[in-house]
Amino acid sequence: MRDLDVKGLLFDIQSFSVHDGPGCRTTVFMNGCPLKCEWCANPESWKGRPQIMFAKTKCKYDKGCSLCINACPHNAISLSDDGVLLLNWKLCDKCTTFDCAKVCSYEALKVCGKWYTVEELIKILNRDSHSWSKEGGVTFSGGEVFYQKDFLMAALRECKKNYIHTVIETSAFVDTDTFMKVMQYIDFAFIDIKHMDREKHKQKTGVYNDLILKNIETLAKSDWSGRIVLRMPVIKEFNDSDENIIKITEFMKKVGLFEINILPFHRMGDSKWSQLGRKYPYSKEKPTSQKKLDHIQEIFLDSQIACYTGSETPF
Ligand code: SF4
Ligand code: SF4
Repeated sequence: MRDLDVKGLLFDIQSFSVHDGPGCRTTVFMNGCPLKCEWCANPESWKGRPQIMFAKTKCKYDKGCSLCINACPHNAISLSDDGVLLLNWKLCDKCTTFDCAKVCSYEALKVCGKWYTVEELIKILNRDSHSWSKEGGVTFSGGEVFYQKDFLMAALRECKKNYIHTVIETSAFVDTDTFMKVMQYIDFAFIDIKHMDREKHKQKTGVYNDLILKNIETLAKSDWSGRIVLRMPVIKEFNDSDENIIKITEFMKKVGLFEINILPFHRMGDSKWSQLGRKYPYSKEKPTSQKKLDHIQEIFLDSQIACYTGSETPF
């Protein structure tokens, strides 16, 4: 099959993105993720197939609309006692037709995930390229980009044929051979580092960190010529202890990395969890305080590691 014909499932393509790498970029959000981080702000990315999302606040049932109830061939929509639509998520999880979303003109019901060929994606990128700054390009994000590694590889090969600057945002949770093969087509990598303790990492993300740390070390010690910036979401009482931060600085120095971007926790994913019929474990958690961010930044700076805070950082 030609690279241009390979298909990938994407849940968003954002033009004019200025926080996902150097310059102005187009960010491509890919479906599927083997991790299940409890604080995730993009839970709609977890599944590697399209799924329905229901935004109750947009629903006009109280104004007389009930089109979706009749459109659903599986009788998956019912009414609560107080007149709110309820989806049977077990049935919706197996759905492939999403007839309900086709009749909902208020976008209360929406399908997350759309198939694109590499050819279609490259057309979009070439269109957007006129708005990129000199150092701009494409950023592949997710979800976890390696979940659809064949599409990723095919898209990257075509990007390089089109002289497009490539950035990747990844957890690096993939076999090392695939990781290193893909990285040959990447100019700049944001790689997540969430916790140095393998058991704690598994508790909150669903996977051990061994492979992730191995991949970071392999890449950092290789002759790959791109730039690596590690990224750490700051999660209270999970990874924000001095002990964990010091262990990260030791790891970074050992492998020869000296840039990290720490991201404050925010609750922006909250409504997406409820639109997927799930309860957000972090719904009561407060955003990370500036004091905490400053403290963590100081530990990195004291270790001669450049530490950028938040998403407003120029790369
Ligand atoms: S079609 Fe949309 S707006 Fe109408 S009742 Fe269903 S979800 Fe609500
Ligand atoms: S996603 Fe499928 S099963 Fe669920 S309400 Fe819509 S049409 Fe019915």
